[in-house]
Amino acid sequence: MAWDFSTEPEFEEKLEWIREFRSERIEPLDLLYPGRAYHPLDDELGPVVRSLKQQVRDQGLWAPHLGPELGGRGFGQVRLALINEILGTSSWAPVIFGTAAPDTGNAEIIARYGTEEQKQRYLQPLLEGECFSCFSMTEPQAGADPTLFTTRAVRDGDEWVITGRKFFSSNARTARFVIVMAVTDPDVSPYKGMSMFLVPSDTPGLRVERHLGTLGEAADEGMHALMSYDGVRVPGDALLGGEGQAFVIAQTRLGGGRVHHAMRVVGQCQKALDMMAERAVSRETQGSRLADKQLVQADLADSYAQLAQFRLFVLYTAWQIDQYNDYRRVRKDIAAIKFLTPKVLHDIVYRSMHLHGALGVSNEMPFADMWTGAAVMAVVDGPTEVHKITVAKEVLRGREAAPGLWPTEHLPARREWARKQLENM
Ligand SMILES: Cc1cc2nc3c(=O)[nH]c(=O)nc-3n(C[C@H](O)[C@H](O)[C@H](O)COP(=O)(O)OP(=O)(O)OC[C@H]3O[C@@H](n4cnc5c(N)ncnc54)[C@H](O)[C@@H]3O)c2cc1C
Repeated sequence: MAWDFSTEPEFEEKLEWIREFRSERIEPLDLLYPGRAYHPLDDELGPVVRSLKQQVRDQGLWAPHLGPELGGRGFGQVRLALINEILGTSSWAPVIFGTAAPDTGNAEIIARYGTEEQKQRYLQPLLEGECFSCFSMTEPQAGADPTLFTTRAVRDGDEWVITGRKFFSSNARTARFVIVMAVTDPDVSPYKGMSMFLVPSDTPGLRVERHLGTLGEAADEGMHALMSYDGVRVPGDALLGGEGQAFVIAQTRLGGGRVHHAMRVVGQCQKALDMMAERAVSRETQGSRLADKQLVQADLADSYAQLAQFRLFVLYTAWQIDQYNDYRRVRKDIAAIKFLTPKVLHDIVYRSMHLHGALGVSNEMPFADMWTGAAVMAVVDGPTEVHKITVAKEVLRGREAAPGLWPTEHLPARREWARKQLENM
């Protein structure tokens, strides 16, 4: 009977170290330098950040998502989930631990599909935290439906020429290179007619039209670029994986990332719940503490139960990935946690923010970023609806229609069957 929810004591010690390191060492950066995590390091922050990264390396915790073949510890998804739960409340932590998106997903696909030369040139610096990278797939006219992408790559002798526009390419501002998805064969199904290319950011013709921010960010301070590819020439060996493999590659990079996002959100929700509980026992109104009002108790209980369910579901999904080593086999649950992530974040952060009254909606509490996160999570890596469709299709797979007019659980027929069973006992 194998059924265990415990964490090994040695790993729990690691988690304890991470918790303290995040609270004591990284949170000062979150508070004093919000929004700077993905910018190039200047003389002021450079030494601090490099020292923090080194402390993480010394603990053997740098880039914990990597397998041993890439210099990581091969922790697997469950342990990684527990780490991400702790890192999730800090915007700087992913950079300090080498787990920042989109670099993790980009590293994963270069490791899996890249040539030796591509690994040397692009993967190595990424793994060592020496550079940022960008993943350029979404287009201004199409996101959730990638079959509508039109950015084109055409062969010209030994080179490829890429032309088109991409939207919301995160970190283009600071990326040393871009992985771009383009149509290479418009005459076959889009699922077989698109390819990925590795493009250095300084390649002529590659241009950022403007940087977009998310809700509340000042104009041009954002990290998500509208990019144009105006006849960008790259050599034949810029192709990542085989020609026509873009969809397969894209799926590889998103599977693990969704679990990481979900677990970071678990950490944020726990923080929101802790804040809510503190407020409930601190504030009095109309003769009693907020904690003594039944409507407040209901919100606390709902938040606790919603979070506990979600956390177990995410960990179970991570566990399945570790067991089967096959994202496709776990796709139903990966899609389900993907669409639950914004919902749980939305519900718990909203209740906590609301319980703080005016202070909650003020800029003196950290709710704005958490709240914005819920809206962002519902869109990034594909909108909620698309993942619900995936889950529904998987749930319906292999289902058969009832054999006659009535459902198979129609009680008159079931009772008839039961009577016959009893007669034969
Ligand atoms: C913070 C952030 C970072 C991002 N980073 C990157 C990045 O680095 N690289 C990159 O390539 N992209 C990135 N994206 C883009 C992201 O992948 C897309 O936004 C996402 O795939 C959705 O595409 P879209 O925005 O074009 O929405 P659309 O496809 O236009 O969908 C809009 C809405 O239509 C509805 N809808 C869509 N499809 C269906 C359906 N089948 N059934 C019912 N309703 C539907 C949903 O309500 C959906 O929200 C990022 C986005 C965000 C918000």
